[in-house]
Amino acid sequence: MRLILLGPPGAGKGTQAQRLVEKHGIPQLSTGDMLRAAVSAGTDVGKRAKAVMDAGELVSDEIVNAIVAERIDQPDCTNGFILDGYPRTLAQADAVEAMLGERGEKLDATIELVVDDQALIGRIVKRAQDAVAAGQTPRKDDNPEVFEERLREYYKKTAALIGYYHAKGLLRRIDGMSSIDEVTAEIERVLATV
Ligand code: AMP
Repeated sequence: MRLILLGPPGAGKGTQAQRLVEKHGIPQLSTGDMLRAAVSAGTDVGKRAKAVMDAGELVSDEIVNAIVAERIDQPDCTNGFILDGYPRTLAQADAVEAMLGERGEKLDATIELVVDDQALIGRIVKRAQDAVAAGQTPRKDDNPEVFEERLREYYKKTAALIGYYHAKGLLRRIDGMSSIDEVTAEIERVLATV
């Protein structure tokens, strides 16, 4: 199964992706996680991405497309994967289609988590507080100022993907405002139909 989880920052994509990993045994490919790992490791990609990420803007298509192309070639992706936070632009959506086309594969569905903008900011603040409570350093971009920029980037560049996948008949919309368990159950109901 090859899935995309779509939705603004804080919509719950990461949480739901982890549950899908457990249930379906396919990996979660989070470009945000991969970029943060590159930043921590101090690689060339990490150095190029760091300031952009700290500002809440999108890293270049060229960088993220290259990261994903390399990742989906790994053996654990043979039976599928969950794309979390990728694609985020129309150019990335075209790139993933081309990558899959070369492998004779196609997407099964794009699941959009539909959430209320006002609720998102509260979730981000809570995510940062939870990290501190767990003795971790919160993400540098999980603060209200940077979050506003991340949300603007979503509406400017990523929300167009809703129409893109709708036109392809792949879009499934789910109410992301219900409880985590209810959202998981709804995703499973939808996946049973694809
Ligand atoms: P996330 O963990 O998905 O919220 O991503 C954190 C940050 O990483 C984003 O605000 C972007 O700066 C960068 N990023 C992650 N995925 C992408 C992507 N697909 N395209 C461009 N930038 C990305």
